[in-house]
Amino acid sequence: MIMLHLFNRIDTIELIQIELVNIVNRPISKIRMNLFSPVISVLRRSIDSLRAINADLASYWINKKSKPLPTPNLPTIVFAPHPDDESLGCGGMIAIKRALGQEIRVIFVTDGAFSIDTSRKTAIAFQRQQEATQALDELGVDRQCITFLNYPDGALHELLPPEQAQLIREFQAILAPYPQVEVFVPHHHDRHSDHEATYRLVKTALENFPGTAQLWQYPIWVLWKTPCIQLLTQTSSGWHSLAIGQVIKQKKRAIAAHVSQIEDALPPGFLNRFQQPYELFWKE
Ligand SMILES: [Zn+2]
Repeated sequence: MIMLHLFNRIDTIELIQIELVNIVNRPISKIRMNLFSPVISVLRRSIDSLRAINADLASYWINKKSKPLPTPNLPTIVFAPHPDDESLGCGGMIAIKRALGQEIRVIFVTDGAFSIDTSRKTAIAFQRQQEATQALDELGVDRQCITFLNYPDGALHELLPPEQAQLIREFQAILAPYPQVEVFVPHHHDRHSDHEATYRLVKTALENFPGTAQLWQYPIWVLWKTPCIQLLTQTSSGWHSLAIGQVIKQKKRAIAAHVSQIEDALPPGFLNRFQQPYELFWKE
C-alpha cells in the first residue's frame, strides 16, 4: 500500500511543477521554487529509486514466467513513438534478426521534440533523429529502412479524427507491401499517452490488413509506473521472452547513442532493466 501511495504521488508532484510553469508562464528552469523545489527533488529521487527496484523485480519475475519468443524468418516492422523506444524495447530483437539477414523497418511516429522550452524544439528533433540513425546503425539497420513521420511529440492522443485517419493511412501504406509480417508496438497499457496511442492506431491500421500480421507489444514504461504487486497478480500467459545475451553489447551501444535522453530525460535507474540479457514482449 505504501508503494502504491508513493507511485500515485509522483504524478501529483509532476502536475504541481506543470501548474507552476503555467502560472508564471516561464520555463521551469527559471522559476524560483525556493520553498517547494528541495522537497520535490527529494521526493522524486526517492520515488525514482523505488520505481527502479519495482521495474527490476517485475522484469525478473515476468522473464521467469515467460514463454520463449518465436523468431520466424519474416519481415519485421517496429513502430516507435519516439527515438529511443526502438533500442530500449526491441534493440536485442532487431540486432538478432539483422544478424540473420532478416528485413527490419523502423518507423518513428513523433519527432521526439517535446520540451518545455519551445524555442529548442527544432534542434531537439534534429538531434534525436541523428541519435536514432546512429543507434540503428549499431543494430545493423540500413538507413533506407528508417522512417521519421514527425508527428508532434506528446500529442498523438490529441490528434483530430482526420489527422488520426491520415496517420492510419500512412501506417497502412507502410504495411501494404508485406503479405506476412511481424509488427512490434508499445504495450497497450504502457502508461504514456504517445505509446498507448501508437498501439491503438497501429491496431486500427491492421484491422483491414489483407495479409497476416503477428502483433507483439514491447513494454517501456508499464513496468516502471505500475506497482509490481499489481503486475504479479495479473495473468502472465501473454508474456514472452527473447534471450539477447549474444547481442547485449550492441544493444547497449544503441541505447548509448541516444545521448540527449540518457543525459537529460530518462530518470535514474530507468535503463537497468533494458540492459538485461533478455527482452520481454506481450501478445494478446
Ligand atoms: Zn517513448
